[in-house]
Amino acid sequence: MRIAVIKPPPHPGTIRMERLISVEPLELEYLYSALKEYHPLIIDCSRTRKNPLKQVASFQPDLIVITAYITHLEWVLCFSEKMKGAEHQPIIFVGGPHAEVCPEHFFSAHIDAVFFAGQLTALNKSIERLELGQPYHDIPGVATASGAQFQRCEGLTNPDLKVPAPERIFFNPNPGKYFYLQYKRCAAVKTALGCPGCCSFCFCRHMNGGRYSPRQIEDVITEIESLDADSILFVGDNFLVNPSRLLAFADLVHERGIEKNFIAYGTAAFVVNHPDVVLALKNAGLNALIIGFEFIDDDELKSVRKGATVADNIRAAAILDQLGLDLVALFIISPRYSHDHFRRLARFIRQNPIYAATFSTETLLPGAENFSSPDPFDNHDSIIKNSWRYDLLRLHEKPKHMSAPLFYCWLYYLYLMPYLSPKKALRLARNFSFSGAIIAFTKAAFTGIEYLLKLLFWH
Ligand code: SF4
Repeated sequence: MRIAVIKPPPHPGTIRMERLISVEPLELEYLYSALKEYHPLIIDCSRTRKNPLKQVASFQPDLIVITAYITHLEWVLCFSEKMKGAEHQPIIFVGGPHAEVCPEHFFSAHIDAVFFAGQLTALNKSIERLELGQPYHDIPGVATASGAQFQRCEGLTNPDLKVPAPERIFFNPNPGKYFYLQYKRCAAVKTALGCPGCCSFCFCRHMNGGRYSPRQIEDVITEIESLDADSILFVGDNFLVNPSRLLAFADLVHERGIEKNFIAYGTAAFVVNHPDVVLALKNAGLNALIIGFEFIDDDELKSVRKGATVADNIRAAAILDQLGLDLVALFIISPRYSHDHFRRLARFIRQNPIYAATFSTETLLPGAENFSSPDPFDNHDSIIKNSWRYDLLRLHEKPKHMSAPLFYCWLYYLYLMPYLSPKKALRLARNFSFSGAIIAFTKAAFTGIEYLLKLLFWH
């Protein structure tokens, strides 16, 4: 069977941070490993300008597997329609993060199956059945077209924790292409599926059927050992969950003599409650933590069930600073913020040891708990048409206290803030080297200008 695997191209209006962060397409590497025996054609449209239609037309696959985020939704539906209108009509399977939480968005007359749970296992089983000419509608985790409807096979699905480690077909030939801020030759490693947290705005915690499934720590270590990378970004949604698992991780890193820089997601509550564990991780190579601070007011943190207070965030930043760990603080910006609120946020960042931060616009992602038919995308068709807008960097409603351009200028200012304070600029220069800090500032400035320009055309 001839199989093509596609990661769709970004919509031109989607705002991306690729100058500052470039992560290998791990999902394609996992798919390649799972389908290796078929010698699949892998098309990463996120990085190439090549037309996937032409590539597919010359390859003539029997099956196309598409892995997609919400921002790709409209593209996937249009592409599938075109494929099914072609002379050689391939079977089309769709999976990926968005299909896992909102499979119904892909239910279309031009798509044959949507994979929403245990995706790699379900995909392999479905292909086996296809080859035998047998139906695959009864495989758990697969939704298949049945007349005009789609039928979901729920059943018990096992998380894909025992799937083979991904073959690094993108990272290995070109490790220098992948970085996270100043961390170069940075590979991505999945340590768990899902998150045990309960933040109401979070889409990720609904993946993996809403369960948290950590991988065996020995498997994670073995995968890290096999990588010719200087840095490792743990792409699980929250690495700092179980103290004893993390201490076992630190022990194994020492035992096996692994020397790499680790970058992980975590929570302020964990840092505050387990500074000893964070110290053990630092001694094992942890260099940076990415933490969702989200807001600077307790009532806002409480309203989204963040499980941390503003005092926890301040304390966590101080602990990481004392330990010499980099903190990347993630904030959510509401369209209801006033100039005064922005000023308070800027002061918060200035007064605390926050050297890098990101600012997402409040976005009610379909599938997240608080997505309750808000304006402006309040129905299926509207979500599909506007799917490219879910880049977490644009307004989804009019700001209450200022114009949209002013709102975006505030965001631009906040992004540049760490470079504008002499103390923080010095720390950045220490991390990046002096020339590296200038390059980082230039990249951040250009990303901001591109961001503002894109918003002019695709607001
Ligand atoms: S801790 Fe992070 S990943 Fe977990 S539910 Fe909250 S926002 Fe989501």
